[in-house]
Amino acid sequence: MYDIRKIGKKGIAVREELDLLLPPEFGAGERTLVSFVGKLTNVAVGSYILEGEARSTFATLCSRCLKPCENSVEFSIAENFVESGVAEPPDYCDIVFDDEVIRIMTAIHRNLLANIPYHFLCSENCAGLCQHCGVDLNHNTCDCNDMPTGVFAELLAEIKTGGVNQ
Ligand SMILES: [Zn+2]
Ligand SMILES: [Zn+2]
Repeated sequence: MYDIRKIGKKGIAVREELDLLLPPEFGAGERTLVSFVGKLTNVAVGSYILEGEARSTFATLCSRCLKPCENSVEFSIAENFVESGVAEPPDYCDIVFDDEVIRIMTAIHRNLLANIPYHFLCSENCAGLCQHCGVDLNHNTCDCNDMPTGVFAELLAEIKTGGVNQ
């Protein structure tokens, strides 16, 4: 929490470690630690801007092979905070506050969600799982690539079982 009476036109340094909860689609509600370094500046009456850099590290699953892996994401933040009833009417994206204190958690959280990718890979060249038999192609091989797929494969199967007149 930052007391706005201490925030001047030159700004004050902000350095925080936040423990945030990610929605389940990012890995079963894993907590993620976000470090933020930046500053809060009073830019107009009742109006403040939070600017800085954030870095987050979190556990997740590889989108291709489903192996647990750790990922990190870095992003810049620039958010406006406006004091309720004091500043100009806020824009839709401004964060409104009262009690003369600014809490940066909401700003960090929404920037994290906006910057976190939906797909992660354990490594750039992860081979993933075989779509047919499910083996992890990083560690195993299979013969599925030689098999026909799709409509052609279905027709072939029907022919073999005598379902299609030749
Ligand atoms: Zn992988
Ligand atoms: Zn296979």
